[in-house]
Amino acid sequence: MTTLTNLEQVRRVVTAIPGPKSNALIQRRAEAVSGGLGLTFPVAIERASDAILLDVDGNQIIDMGSGIGVTNVGNSASRVVANVIEQVQIFTHTCFTVNPYLNYIEVCEALNRLTPGTHKKKSMLVNSGAEAVENAVKIARHYTKRQAIVVFEHAYHGRTNLTMALNAKNMPYKEGFGPFAPEIYRMPMPYEFRWIGPKETITADAMEMITHKIEKEIGAHNVAAILIEPIQGEGGFIVPPKGFLPALAQYSREHGIIFMADEVQSGFARTGHMFAVEEEGVVPDILITAKGIGGGLPLAGVTGRAEIMDSVHISGLGGTFGGNPIACAAALGAIATIEEDGLIERARHIGQVLGDGLRALAAKYPVIGEVRGRGAMQAIELIVPGSIEPNSAAMSQVLKYCTANGVFILSAGTYNNVIRFLPPLVITDELLVDALKVLDEAFATL
Ligand SMILES: *Cc1c(COP(=O)(O)O)cnc(C)c1O
Repeated sequence: MTTLTNLEQVRRVVTAIPGPKSNALIQRRAEAVSGGLGLTFPVAIERASDAILLDVDGNQIIDMGSGIGVTNVGNSASRVVANVIEQVQIFTHTCFTVNPYLNYIEVCEALNRLTPGTHKKKSMLVNSGAEAVENAVKIARHYTKRQAIVVFEHAYHGRTNLTMALNAKNMPYKEGFGPFAPEIYRMPMPYEFRWIGPKETITADAMEMITHKIEKEIGAHNVAAILIEPIQGEGGFIVPPKGFLPALAQYSREHGIIFMADEVQSGFARTGHMFAVEEEGVVPDILITAKGIGGGLPLAGVTGRAEIMDSVHISGLGGTFGGNPIACAAALGAIATIEEDGLIERARHIGQVLGDGLRALAAKYPVIGEVRGRGAMQAIELIVPGSIEPNSAAMSQVLKYCTANGVFILSAGTYNNVIRFLPPLVITDELLVDALKVLDEAFATL
């Protein structure tokens, strides 16, 4: 077996980006692959290590997106690679509900241990974030014998039929894909930057609007679950105001409602905690994981209070591939990397370096309306200077410049005007500073 040496962690631009080989591959893609799939960077990847992507033309590109918050431990992290190679030689599949195996149980034990709360917890594993959200809703409805699910403006929970209904944004997620599942109720989100009312009382005002809507429009006794991302991801890294998540959790407790945190994007050390809800000591009844859990392999989990997770009849939950042994081996490698290499601390440090850098840019360029986020989950919202009007043209121009110069940065936001930073937590300070330098040049071109 040949072992590849890791890529040197430096940016190196040797052709136009995209280069000729990428362009040829994109052409081939257009012939063979459904046009319904998006294409953020028209640049094909040949290899990757940690925070560097090597494209097919030989360019070394800084990864500021981690494949949408997945490779938190770095691309092809050593423990993930070793565990996967070992497991793929041992066995590849049984279907856990046909014949169980150890590493599925170990991942569940790790989730039960790592998620907030000292109560008895149990978990189940599936293949994707959307599938985990779907299962969380199934379990919450079954346990409470209620049907209504409360979600929020700017929410994103996936692309299956039920999760489309849970999403806030029509284009591109819902347009033409209806009908959608019933019994989904959307609440206002206290999005501080765009809040109409006084900012000093935003938490109390939002809670009053939400509880009024729940009680008058649904009936609290009909609500199975309140589902929220502790920091909203696709919606634009919207950080709820202090006290909001604790108030929602408290309200849920008082009304027999399951409080569900979708930590698919914010979890696994991303925000400088293992899970983002820890910032305010919130203990969800059900916590949903995916993305960062598998170090790049597809895996997702639902973890909850044992009595809730055990309330479903036998075989009410499952799936052919859920908790595949290779993905579980990868997850154990990713979790060991986070814990043994201090990546929670590392995320806080990244938050400092990145946050300081972005605030310096905001002071220099009035097109940056706000810098927000936590740990290694940071964003800037672009506006028409002197207003809060979204400026998606500026965003496109900035990201285009960064791509051409070997830095991949993702966008987000209901108004397509947010630049989000989700670097691998193993990124070096040198690469972060280099990425910020390119970003500075990009803003200077506006
Ligand atoms: C990505 C995401 C999902 C969906 O996960 P998939 O693995 O793409 O199905 C759900 N919730 C949040 C918050 C996400 O960021």
